[in-house]
Amino acid sequence: MDVSIAESRFYVYNERMGIEEDHCHEFKGHRNVSVEELPPWSFIKGRSGDKLHRSRRAVSRTLCGLLNSGEGGTVYMGVTDDGVARGMRIQLYQRDHMIVSLRDLMSRFSPPIHDSMIQVVFVPVLASGESQKKWLDKLHKSDATLGKAANTRAKQHKLRSYEYCWCDVETEAMIDCSDWLPTFVIELSVRKRKITPEVIVPAAVNWPDMKLLKKAEILPVYEDEEGKCYCRGQGGLFQYPAQEVKSNTQVLMSSHYLPIIERLRSQLHQARFILKYTPEPMTDEEFRKKIVQSNDFYES
Ligand SMILES: [Zn+2]
Repeated sequence: MDVSIAESRFYVYNERMGIEEDHCHEFKGHRNVSVEELPPWSFIKGRSGDKLHRSRRAVSRTLCGLLNSGEGGTVYMGVTDDGVARGMRIQLYQRDHMIVSLRDLMSRFSPPIHDSMIQVVFVPVLASGESQKKWLDKLHKSDATLGKAANTRAKQHKLRSYEYCWCDVETEAMIDCSDWLPTFVIELSVRKRKITPEVIVPAAVNWPDMKLLKKAEILPVYEDEEGKCYCRGQGGLFQYPAQEVKSNTQVLMSSHYLPIIERLRSQLHQARFILKYTPEPMTDEEFRKKIVQSNDFYES
């Protein structure tokens, strides 16, 4: 996971972001990454009566949607629904907490989210007219002081819980002492998915069907920590029933992949046959020609 602090850009407190929410950008006013981190008071009664619903949603849901859309995108934590940058006052230990908690969440996705898919950038939120350089100097000083307390920093964070962690208590103590605290918007980005892992096929077996396999999209479908599957489209976030995902995958398998696999299997069989009954050594090119001559695989 690529984690960094933006040193060349910043947002201004209470100013509107330069972007709108759409299928690849979402604003969150909190930093609850998993469902377990949602506080009990975020369950409220709906207009229609006793049914409880959540007034806020975990980041994991959006993360799942962005992963399944394949287009990539960013969740901005510390930004109001209408796109105003408020940021969050979080010191070094809480930023550590955020990363540990994210890694824990990623490991609970099915399939687990690979580190290379995710990028986290802590973007400074400055007061109007504040000097960026002075702000960064204060940050480096604060981080250096907190970083020196190696034993404190090594303490285990309280994960999968809405309760205060020791790192939040540290922040309260800092506020009580009127210590300076940095304010950040946390940008959590999912990279655009590479369609196909590059397969190196030796020239001798470079059959057209292999090219079809190389071109085919092999897209895993991600489920979040609750086993739910979301996809993000133009109209928002949709939840897909597991059964629907399963049957779509089955249709794709039987209509696209299975015929290719069958043809490749038969070509492999032919290749073995040629190798067995051709005593003289062959170059890759001669071998390829023989396979092409020996059958009419390419008709289909
Ligand atoms: Zn913590």
